[in-house]
Formats: sequence, C-alpha cells, structure tokens
Amino acid sequence: MTKIYQLPKSVSNQIAAGEVVQRPSSIVKELLENSIDANSKNIKIIIKDAGKQSITIIDDGVGMNKEDSLKCFNRHSTSKIKKAEDLFKIKSMGFRGEALSSIAAISDVIIQTKTKNNENGYEINIRDSKIIKENEISKNLGTTIIVKNIFFNIPARRNFLKSNPVELKYIIDEFIRLALSNHHINFILINNEIEIYNLKNSNLKKRIISLFKKNYEQQLVSCNEKFGDISISGFIGKPENSKKTRGEQFIFVNNRFIKNNYLNHAIFKTYQGLIEDKKYPFYILFIEIDTAKVDINIHPTKTEVKFEDEKLLYNLMNSSVSKSLGTHHIIPSIDFNADINFNNKVVIDYDKNKYQNTQLNSSKNQKEWQNIFNEAKIENSNTRKIFEDDSIEIKNNPIQVLENFIFKQLGDKLLIFNNKNCQQTILYEKFEKSSLNSYSNSQQNLFPKYIEFNNSDFQLIKEIINDIKSIGFDIDFFGKNSIVVNGIPTGLDDINEEEIIESFIEEIKNNNQNLKAEKKEIILKSISKNAQILNKKKLNTEEMKSIIDRLFACNNPKYSPDGKLNFIELNNSKIENLF
Ligand code: ADP
Ligand code: MG
Repeated sequence: MTKIYQLPKSVSNQIAAGEVVQRPSSIVKELLENSIDANSKNIKIIIKDAGKQSITIIDDGVGMNKEDSLKCFNRHSTSKIKKAEDLFKIKSMGFRGEALSSIAAISDVIIQTKTKNNENGYEINIRDSKIIKENEISKNLGTTIIVKNIFFNIPARRNFLKSNPVELKYIIDEFIRLALSNHHINFILINNEIEIYNLKNSNLKKRIISLFKKNYEQQLVSCNEKFGDISISGFIGKPENSKKTRGEQFIFVNNRFIKNNYLNHAIFKTYQGLIEDKKYPFYILFIEIDTAKVDINIHPTKTEVKFEDEKLLYNLMNSSVSKSLGTHHIIPSIDFNADINFNNKVVIDYDKNKYQNTQLNSSKNQKEWQNIFNEAKIENSNTRKIFEDDSIEIKNNPIQVLENFIFKQLGDKLLIFNNKNCQQTILYEKFEKSSLNSYSNSQQNLFPKYIEFNNSDFQLIKEIINDIKSIGFDIDFFGKNSIVVNGIPTGLDDINEEEIIESFIEEIKNNNQNLKAEKKEIILKSISKNAQILNKKKLNTEEMKSIIDRLFACNNPKYSPDGKLNFIELNNSKIENLF
C-alpha cells in the first residue's frame, strides 16, 4: 500500500502561504506590487481594522482578461517570467507567481478586473483556493482586489496578530517603501475611513517630504555616484537630524526595498563620530546594478538579496555617502598638520594641569591619605559587628575610579559599583513605584513641547501613550501625528523629551511585544537607560554616598533592569589571588 499522497491544492497553497503571508501587511505589499507591475498610475488602498477586517486595492493598471483572471490564483502562474534564464533579468516586483494563490488559500478574495481590449470586466469570488462564483461585470480599466477574513482557516495565525495600531504600523511601513520607490504613482491609503496618505506623483524629494515631515526639506543631502555600471543615488540626512529610533533607513536595489545589515553598516560607519552613540541617520539610497549581478530569488518576500560582489558594494556605499557628507561640508575638512598640533596641545595641557594640581594640593592630599588610613583603622575594628548584624553601614568615603566605577570599602570587603548600572536600577525602581500609584508626579514644563512623528511611529505612540503617562509624563495627542508634552516625571531634569520618547519607540520596536505589563517594563527600562542624570559629570562624595544609599534601598539592589550586576564584592583572598 502506498504511503505517499499528493497534497490537495488547497493544502499545498496553505503551506506556501505560511511564508508569503505573515500578517495583513504582507497582503498589502504583494497586492501593491502587483498593481505597480501592472503599470498603474493611481492606486487606492482601503483597509478596515488594520487589515484584519478587509483590504481593498483599486488600481488603473492593465487588468486581466477572463482567462488570465481564472489562472492568476494558481500557484506558480505568472506573466512576468517564462524560463529559468529570465530569473536573472527581472525588472518587475513579482515573478514567483505565488502571492495570489497564497492569499486565496487563507482568506476570502474577490477580484474584479478589466483590460482595455475587453468591453466588460470579469469578477471572481474565491474561498479556500476554490472559485465559488464568477461572472462578467461592467467595470473601468484596471483591477480591484478585496481580501476579507484573513487567516479564517488558520486560527493560530489570526490570534497571533497584534493590536490594530501595531498591524497598521506594519502596513504603513510596507506602503512607505513602495511609495518611495514609485514616486511617479498617485497613492491613497485609507484606514477605517480616515485618510492616512494622499500622495500626488512627484519627484523623490517631494515624495520624501510628503511621506515624512515638511522640515525634512532642510535635512536632505543628495547623493549621486556612478561607478562603472553601478549607480547609487538618493538622499541622506544631516548628522544632527539623526534619531534615537530606527525606521528611516532605506536601501533599494533596482527599485526593490531590501534589508541588508552589511550595507547598512557601510553607511553607519561614515557617520561615526558625527552622531551620538545609538542614534540612526536618515537615508534613502537606490542602487542600480546589472540584474545578472544580483540574485533576488532568496526568499518568497524578496527583501533579502545576494550580490555577486558584496564587498565592492560596501565600499561604494561607504565612499558615496562620505563624499556626499564631505561635499556638503558636513564633515569638517581635514588639515592633518592642524590636527596633530591640536592633539599634542591637549595632552600637554592636561599633563601640566595634573602636575600643578598635585603640587598645589600636596599637603591637602597628605592629610586626606591620613584620614583614609585612620578611617580604615576604625572600620577594621568594627568589621565583625557590621557583618554579624548583616546591616549595611558605610563609614569611609567612596571614591570614583575610571569614571564609571565607585570603590567603597565595607568592613573587610571592597565593593566596586558600576555607576551606570546602579543609576539605572535606582531610576527603574523609582518610576516603577510611582507608576503603581494611581497618579504619578510630574513637573510642568514652562513651555509645552510639541513633537511630530512620522505616521508609522505615531501608531506605536498610540499603543504606548497610556504607559508613558503612567510614569509621570503629562502628554496628549495634538493634531495629526503630533503630541504635546506638558510635563515630565519629577526627577528627570535636563532631558530631551523628543529623544526620550524616540527611545521608547525604539525599545518597543526591538522588543516587538504587545502585552500590557511588558510594554510598561520596556518603557521603564528605556527611561532608566536614557536618563542617567549623574552619569556624565564627576561625582562628589555626597552624590556617591547617595547613589549607594539609594541603591541599597531598592528592592533588587544586586542587578540592573537588564540583569547585569550593579556591584561586585572583593575580599582579601580574592584580591590576593589576582597577584
Ligand atoms: P507574480 O506577481 O509573482 O507574477 P502573483 O500571484 O502576485 O504572482 O500574480 C499572478 C499574476 O496575476 C501576475 O503575474 C499578473 O499577471 C496577474 N496580476 C496580479 N495582480 C494584477 C493586477 N493588479 N493587475 C494586473 N494583473 C495582475
Ligand atoms: Mg505578485
């Protein structure tokens, strides 16, 4: 008896769909790519409940005749390639012929389409990969596809979908990528009857401005380089406009958005030293390359590609971006002589100062040493008591070493505190405590601060606004894509509201979580990491003592919110072993 069965079409399509359709945004991407490949000039996307209820895409492209519209739902049916060699000459977005079959395997689909040579259009209803109705209709040129009941037959997938703002964010992200690379097309995106974008055909610069913010006009620096048959073009952002959150970095290869960390690194590297740590520059760069030198057939979603010579591209990206920054006078011109003199001067001054200080303070220093010695003697005689009581008694003064470390002798132990981790813990627990109260203390800003976000990040703000409020930020929505910050949590002096909220968004993006408790924890971690008030300056004795006291008043003094040690203990034998 045979054991091997040929799986029915609906099952094999469902298996393939697993890779093509992960969430509503995958459907939006695939349908938009089809409309673009069909040479549409106008594309309208209407979604309900972030695509969970329905996705409708209306285009005015070439359309399909009756025969093609019946075929297009079969797996591996495509009008875009015919033979294997064509895989290396691809100019269209699609070519694998598996999007429509995958979508039809996991949802209800209606397609209405008409070509210019047919008087009437054709409509097909399809469910579970089976045609349930087909008929002629009167229709304008182009194709309309309506997708409903996504994942109706895969409950695990449906339940796995995130909240509407998060799913909408994914859709907006896909939309932005395609709207950037197709700025000659008019696009409208509507969710729950609210128009999110209405983009008129334009050049790349204008498209960028209408997709992001108006003030981007001043931030954009053009980039245009040609190296043999490879060209790199687009815009990069000025270093001072970099953000604490990722999401405005785009690389396109032959007009296809790709994800490639190696090439991203080539760009980040050129900004090194020009932007702060953990900030990300803006860039939208298009690589044009011979289609034979790049393989896009790596994954069904086609965002990964393999280059014949990736190293060469790395170097080209790096040098194009450096050149752009240089020609726009963003990197200061380098005068090697001046540079060397400058360095020498700094070192000499520094040494001289140090020398002078010790000279001047030598008698004071001696006294201090004596004090430390005396205190240590007292401490020693108390050693037993301190540890038997198991209470923490701090007598001798802590000292700051190598900027981030605080040394403190306690009985016969030396405690080394990691200042950064300690302050993170203190802040984390402080904000955690205040967020548990029904109201949290906030100090009012003298002037309200207005912050505008891009559409995609704004969806995440909607998702986390209540959690941000709960820790003491007095914020509210203000018009389209903006918030107003009226107050910040008490104890957070000297912060940049925009950067701290960007850092919340970045943490949420990285963690990709959706549970209420976890979101708050992510925000608390982010705020404790970003608001280290005392981290940069030299600490005085009182400040060090206060850090240690406050640390030991915490519920969990041993570990930082990231699970790192806040301090280590060295006793005599441990130190002895180091020698
Ligand atoms: P692919 O895009 O890889 O060819 P799809 O499953 O996405 O595969 O689409 C199958 C075929 O259906 C396409 O090759 C194209 O001929 C046709 N098609 C899909 N969408 C449209 C559309 N909006 N307008 C015209 N033809 C379309
Ligand atoms: Mg396609």
